[in-house]
Amino acid sequence: MEETKQLTLSEIPTGERCMIVKVHGHGGFRHRILELGFVRGEIVSVLKNAPLRDPVEYEIMGTHVSLRHSEAARIDVVSLSKDAHPDLTQDFHGTLEEHVRQEVEQLGKEITVALVGNPNCGKTSFFNYATGMREKVGNYSGVTVDSKVGTFHHRGFTINLVDLPGTYSLTEFSPDELYVRDFLDNHDLDLVLNIVNAGNLERNMLLTTQLIDRNHPMVMALNMYDELEKSGDRLDHQALGQLLGFPVVPVIARTGWGIENVLEAIVQVYEGKAKETKHIHINYGSEMESAIEQLKILLNETEGLRNHYHPRYLALKLIAGDQTVWQQVAHLSNADEIRKAAEQYRKNFEKEYDEDITSVISDLRFGFIRGALSETLVPAQKKEKQQLGYALDKVLTNRWMGFPILFCFLFIMFEVTFVLGAYPQDWLETGIGWLGEWCRSVLPAGIFADLLVDGVLAGAGAVLVFLPQILILFLFISILEDTGYMARAAFIMDKLMHRMGLHGKSFIPYIIGFGCSVPAVLAARTLENPRDRILTILTVPFISCSARLPVYMLLVAAFFPHHQALILLSIYLIGLVFAILTSLLLSKVHFKQQANPFVMELPPYRVPTLRNAAIHTWDKTSEWLKRVSTVVLLASVIIWALGYFPRLTSNSDSGMKKEQLEQSYLGKIGHAIEPAFRPLGMEWRAGVSLIAGASAKEVIASSMAVLYGVEDTDDNQEQSMAVKLQSVRDADGRQVYSPIAAYAMMLFILLYFPCISTLATIRQEIGKGWMWFSAIYNTMLAWLVSFAFYQIASLF
Ligand code: GDP
Ligand code: MG
Repeated sequence: MEETKQLTLSEIPTGERCMIVKVHGHGGFRHRILELGFVRGEIVSVLKNAPLRDPVEYEIMGTHVSLRHSEAARIDVVSLSKDAHPDLTQDFHGTLEEHVRQEVEQLGKEITVALVGNPNCGKTSFFNYATGMREKVGNYSGVTVDSKVGTFHHRGFTINLVDLPGTYSLTEFSPDELYVRDFLDNHDLDLVLNIVNAGNLERNMLLTTQLIDRNHPMVMALNMYDELEKSGDRLDHQALGQLLGFPVVPVIARTGWGIENVLEAIVQVYEGKAKETKHIHINYGSEMESAIEQLKILLNETEGLRNHYHPRYLALKLIAGDQTVWQQVAHLSNADEIRKAAEQYRKNFEKEYDEDITSVISDLRFGFIRGALSETLVPAQKKEKQQLGYALDKVLTNRWMGFPILFCFLFIMFEVTFVLGAYPQDWLETGIGWLGEWCRSVLPAGIFADLLVDGVLAGAGAVLVFLPQILILFLFISILEDTGYMARAAFIMDKLMHRMGLHGKSFIPYIIGFGCSVPAVLAARTLENPRDRILTILTVPFISCSARLPVYMLLVAAFFPHHQALILLSIYLIGLVFAILTSLLLSKVHFKQQANPFVMELPPYRVPTLRNAAIHTWDKTSEWLKRVSTVVLLASVIIWALGYFPRLTSNSDSGMKKEQLEQSYLGKIGHAIEPAFRPLGMEWRAGVSLIAGASAKEVIASSMAVLYGVEDTDDNQEQSMAVKLQSVRDADGRQVYSPIAAYAMMLFILLYFPCISTLATIRQEIGKGWMWFSAIYNTMLAWLVSFAFYQIASLF
């Protein structure tokens, strides 16, 4: 390795130029720096470099870029000032750059590669063959006591290969593991060569997942390929490489077959030319992921560390209670806060899973491995280790049985939500009606009683009665998540979704979207490719969230009393269809590149505990309750007030009557917008409700309850919303709402303008432009679809 101290970019003074040799550091940092244009052979001018003063300013490829000192220190350079090259005389002037370029060529051509793998996977055999050395090859672990370095040449590159002790994992439970970790942390490696035993991939890849978390540039050598072939298993190693984000190359280290290909892959990755290269995250499930995110924020508060380690890796290790990593962060100024947070997360997980954190995490890792292998490995025959999980997967992810089972589950989910939830909903409705009467009887007639009964109780109350249904729906979603079935649903949807230009992983945000679009938009973070993420986020609002449930139920109960679950399911499926059509359209028009293959994690099945299900259900429901008690309440009161004022003088004593409503502010607004909604079969009050529903979708139901709660006569107070809706007449005395009009309205509600919170989240995740796109496109689509349905269906 290098003798003289390498000059780094942070050492070049203001006004001088230099040429880049190499960028050190882990994937995330490296990636960003390379994207800024800091690649080998590029020339950088230092615009402003004050010692110890951040940031430093550079010009590269015609643009100005500012870096921190700590970042610039990770970039090796050769100076382009004449003083730095005393061996060159004055008349060398014209070719100084050429001279430096040659030097850079030489300097950048040394690649240091660490061999990492399980004991007995063939590291030493590989090392011997590649280096031509005769290291002892043994059949027991611990033969490699120390690291051995061998240097050789390949296509003009000098490769330093380091043979490390074999380890099964990178925890801290054995000296070998610690040794390897320490080596990976403290040596300036260019690349990790992960050697795996192709005959025992599942076990060998546990270490691979840990290397992925550390985010090293990597190549995988599938050693003992002869044994894999002998066993009759079939592995699509190219597909596996695409999923993992680095080349996967078959070799037989004992005979040397394939070693050339591995070296070639190493050079390709080093030069940034390997087509497989991408940075992937192993998805550890929503809770672990949000804990990692939180810790990353704390870790990033202080400079420096993140240029040396992948923050995601540090966060994960801290949650796992890793002492070695703890020492690495102990000097940070907010170390105490970090430790407290990490310990809290760890306790939560151990309590929730009822297992120690190491097994929780390794279970999740195996979920990733199982997902990757079930897409790429075809075993010759059934392995003996047919545990229950495998048997279950065979059925649940089966090509023929998977879909019917999934749709059965979804149907049961809606059926139970609807049928079972109807009873407590009735009780609540009765209770709130009774409360209203009681208020009327004790309060003096007047504006306050009207506000309370017609505004608050009729509005927010109309939404609150759906609490039981919301609880049941969230309970189902929680159970789907907790059992691990959600991942299987995504898995079986994958092929289909690919054909639609989407990704199977998008299905998880979709199912979460049945609950609420906001967490669903956030859940799309598991998709790392921007294209997949944007497509998923933009289509999530077409999945009917629980906030839309109250108004559907209102309409379904009124107009489709005998097919409630079926009609509801049809609305949900139509939402899915439009999600898919939209994504197809966008991928045709805007995103031309192909969907990126991803590993679909298959985490172990778990029997959901009552406690966890209750916690998760309550987490989601309390969010909902918060919205009902704030946004929905406020909107109900506003709608009520707009309909209450100005008062119709002749009739001011008896609450809101139809004439009062017609001449109110709301009536005026409503009649102004009615022409837009009339062709969809709606009259003005529905139009007003829909517009109010932009604040939160629950407001549609609450507004309709306030507005249609009023009728010509006062003596039908006891009538249900259903009867009230059916008795709405237009100017000619004809019934306004038919099943067709109700369905058209549901279609409109399904597709139009996402609520304000969802739009804010979309903006936060993918930007303002897409937010506007979502608002405008969805509303236009809703109008057209609803219009077409109403007009065509009315013909029959
Ligand atoms: P290490 O512990 O990872 O250094 O593994 P070794 O290089 O010591 O190899 C362990 C055993 O696997 C030795 O008996 C090797 O001969 C054998 N071995 C290595 N590579 C291959 C291969 O490609 N195919 C087969 N069948 N055996 C191999
Ligand atoms: Mg060895």
